Amino acid sequence: MRLLSICYISLIALSLVGCENIGEEIRCDTVYETTEDTTSEYGINLKASSNMHITLKKMDKFYKEMEVCSNLTAVPPTVWYISFDFFNIGGSWGYYHSATNTILMNTDVNIVERSCLSDEQTFKHESIHHILKMNGYDYSHSSPMFEKCAVGVNVCNGKVCD
Ligand SMILES: [Zn+2]
Repeated sequence: MRLLSICYISLIALSLVGCENIGEEIRCDTVYETTEDTTSEYGINLKASSNMHITLKKMDKFYKEMEVCSNLTAVPPTVWYISFDFFNIGGSWGYYHSATNTILMNTDVNIVERSCLSDEQTFKHESIHHILKMNGYDYSHSSPMFEKCAVGVNVCNGKVCD
């Protein structure tokens, strides 16, 4: 009886530790979708999208981080996850469509597997394009803000770098 209860306790301890780690992994691998256009608490307009590796709530968080990093604020962008293959845009991770203030996230990257990490890095990078443009600055890659805040997605040994 005494042995049993010790096992029980240690099992609980193990599963608590295990759950925490596994939970993180699952969240990174989880794919989200929205069937209708949604506006976030902070004001990001997410067009109906599927195959998202980050939530709209995370986008709010990342967008605010980019405002802090650039020391600028801007009315949040529209975000739309689409297949660049389908729309014939090319093979990049993301694209900032300045005429409509829209961040396009490519669901068909075909370079390495997408994850919450690549979505984060892509979203942050495109957010910098948006924030600079909204403030009337040069929003091309020659801005030092990209180096400082969000260089984009880097690949290490066939995977998105940490
Ligand atoms: Zn860029």
